[in-house]
Amino acid sequence: MGSKGSIAARVLILGGTSEARALAAGLVARDVPVVSSLAGRVARPALPEGEVRVGGFGGPDGLARWLAENRITAVVDATHPFAERIGASAATGTARAGVPLLRLQRPGWEPAPGDDWHWTDTLDSAAELVPSLGSRVFLTSGRQGLAAFAGLTDLWFLARCVDPPEPPLPPRIEVLLSRGPYRAEDELALLRAHRIEVLVTKDSGGTMTEGKLVAARAHGIPVVVVRRPPRPPVPTVARVEQALEWTLERMTS
Ligand code: NAP
Repeated sequence: MGSKGSIAARVLILGGTSEARALAAGLVARDVPVVSSLAGRVARPALPEGEVRVGGFGGPDGLARWLAENRITAVVDATHPFAERIGASAATGTARAGVPLLRLQRPGWEPAPGDDWHWTDTLDSAAELVPSLGSRVFLTSGRQGLAAFAGLTDLWFLARCVDPPEPPLPPRIEVLLSRGPYRAEDELALLRAHRIEVLVTKDSGGTMTEGKLVAARAHGIPVVVVRRPPRPPVPTVARVEQALEWTLERMTS
């Protein structure tokens, strides 16, 4: 056991987001032992400061075991709002291991007056809606989300993702491999160059990729926004500083 004011143990950050990296950097700067966990989905991930582990835990039981073996005393789930399975696993696994859990989740996006946003619950329902809105589509829903649009053979797609996507894909598609952040003026130039008529996005939130929404507004095109999936009811904060404070409170004794 540490004496008062000393570091008692270490924290696990479930990562894969810019907020997770900012939190890791904040903890490293304060000499808090921290390990960040990445799923290993992208080939060259942006690495957080401090220790990093890569790959799944093997469900909630595997996570609970890993927490005990690694003497973790606090977990921050800072995964992406659409990373549903790891969110459920974090809630169940930490409860089983008796380790406190905080969810760090950036707020969702809000439409501005005059925006033509169409909310859907899933990518499949987005794919059903898109043909009624336009025939040249900018898909920013990620590599794993392209299959939902594969049956739309009459539409043309520009799809942007970090790593090359795998089939099934829509037949008329141009893939743009890139990683944010994106500036609104560059996004507008992209929409104009490809004569985009409708944008499809998940409600990821955050500033790194919101330029496309500003550009869609300026370009006067509709946006299909996929709602966030439900998450388990765990204590949640929206800002990195709040997660830093919560973690520091649990790291000293
Ligand atoms: P997911 O469907 O919720 O997770 C699938 C499985 O991958 C989980 O059950 C877990 O395996 C493993 N996993 C996920 N995140 C992990 C992490 N941070 N550390 C260790 N294992 C992890 O997740 P996803 O939607 O594929 O996203 C994967 C990662 O990419 C997440 O970390 C997320 O933050 C990041 N990301 C996702 C999106 C998105 O749109 N979904 C966008 C940007 C970044 P086990 O059950 O074996 O533990």
